Amino acid sequence: MKLYLSCDMEGTAGVCSWSQVDPSNTDEYPLYRHTMTHEVRCAIEGARAGGAEQFLVNDAHWNMRNLMLEELPQDARVISGSRKPLSMMQGIDEGIEGAFFIGYHGKIGDENAVLAHTYSEEVFYDVRVNGTPCSEALLNAAFAGTYGVPVLLISGDRSIVEETRLHMPWVVGVAVKEPIGFSSVNSMTPSQARTAIYDGAREAMTQRRAARPFLFEPPIVLELVTAGVEHADTIALMPGFDRIDGRTIRVVTDDYRSAFHAFIVALRLGATANAPA
Ligand SMILES: [Zn+2]
Repeated sequence: MKLYLSCDMEGTAGVCSWSQVDPSNTDEYPLYRHTMTHEVRCAIEGARAGGAEQFLVNDAHWNMRNLMLEELPQDARVISGSRKPLSMMQGIDEGIEGAFFIGYHGKIGDENAVLAHTYSEEVFYDVRVNGTPCSEALLNAAFAGTYGVPVLLISGDRSIVEETRLHMPWVVGVAVKEPIGFSSVNSMTPSQARTAIYDGAREAMTQRRAARPFLFEPPIVLELVTAGVEHADTIALMPGFDRIDGRTIRVVTDDYRSAFHAFIVALRLGATANAPA
């Protein structure tokens, strides 16, 4: 059984500040990078105890060079580096039989969700699919769904665990911390979080027959509300991207995989608007 792990950092135990997850911060980041790596290691070892045999890890935070490879199990494969074409979901394919989302966080605008954003708060104010406001977990789960891959486990703060289980009740959730607003948490210690993630991973594997790929019903209507008008000015130039108003772009497709590709294109185009004019 081949398992895919998409690994973010804002949902790691203890994290409550951008400075802890910013690779340029030489004080706090090295510590939390270590915490993140060992949460991923425990997810792999728990999954192995539950029957998983192959592990493809996608480092999915910031510059995507956070995981300390020498501290991961020797048989894991790790995708690192940015910008990957498929970003947080690089590497997913039909050969994968289940996905874990580790270290995830709430979507932009969520109340009581630490460091909540959706891919980039500098580009997107809101992301909706078929009218549903989407977290990274939901966008990514639906992309995995197009390959027939179900999400089995999510770890992170309470907000993303609960929201994900609303859409996908079969997902085992490990809430390693309780958010107190945007930039404060009541957290497990790293060692407690590692135990909880190990146990959750093993449980997720034993229950995996009940899991299903998550799919949005076609036609897929992707609506992107950008952070500023200048982001939409650029994104709207792409054929197939319709400008609804100053900050809203709409893409309609028959399949979600194309919509996710369009989302990544919009993310990249939008980011160019943040460079100095
Ligand atoms: Zn992140």
